[in-house]
Amino acid sequence: MSLITLSHLSKSYREPGSGNEVPVLRDVSLSITAGESVAIVGPSGCGKSTLLNILGTLDVPDQGDYTFDSTSIAGCTPAQLAALRSEKIGFIFQLHHLMPQCTVLENVLLPTLALKAKPDAATLQQRAEALLKAVGLQDRLGWKPAQLSGGERQRVAVVRALINQPKLILADEPTGALDEKNAESLTSLLLELQQTTGTTLVMVTHHPAQAERMGRTLRLHEGILV
Ligand code: ADP
Ligand code: ADP
Repeated sequence: MSLITLSHLSKSYREPGSGNEVPVLRDVSLSITAGESVAIVGPSGCGKSTLLNILGTLDVPDQGDYTFDSTSIAGCTPAQLAALRSEKIGFIFQLHHLMPQCTVLENVLLPTLALKAKPDAATLQQRAEALLKAVGLQDRLGWKPAQLSGGERQRVAVVRALINQPKLILADEPTGALDEKNAESLTSLLLELQQTTGTTLVMVTHHPAQAERMGRTLRLHEGILV
């Protein structure tokens, strides 16, 4: 079943100086099946982050339709989109964006605060502990981000993205700030979690070696899917 359907999507930005419309995405159509792993690649400035932001409903297209999990995004109010993001989409960025004053466990549980229908605290705690164990951080629950290595912080960010059991994980250069060894193991972890949880993974990456490991690669060139 298709989780994501984009049809004839276009997006432009106004250039700050001249005020000219600059097309960023042009007539992009694509479909992503539930459970797939997809890499988005292409040169810097080709529109990868813009596409990911639209998939995450953080940005809206100028033209075209986006249907996510059978919901047409254009028909949703901002409050409905906020609820949809909390319940169904997990985000991972190049930088971990962990809260420095919170422990690992508290950071992981933060996205659950936004849920309308929340599982009880014991269930959430169990889920958090199981995921932290799956990424090898079972001994770090009470630690602060500053006490962790770069690779460990990014693994906490992965667990935080999974805590609400999303249908979709959107990762924007999640390995961009890591050395090669940590980049490789983070990609392995994402793919393993994608397979065990059945979630869909869409990852923007500059690293051809990481992209090759995804089920499918989408290549953007000057805003066009090639
Ligand atoms: P990539 O992720 O492939 O590097 P982006 O999607 O970040 O590319 O950006 C594509 C183009 O859109 C770039 O030329 C960028 O300057 C422009 N752009 C992105 N976001 C904005 C914005 N909010 N306002 C104006 N221009 C933007
Ligand atoms: P990396 O090779 O990823 O840069 P680091 O040298 O930063 O790793 O960290 C190696 C180990 O030391 C990690 O397991 C991390 O948890 C631990 N560590 C790093 N900084 C601290 C700290 N301030 N307090 C306690 N443990 C730390």
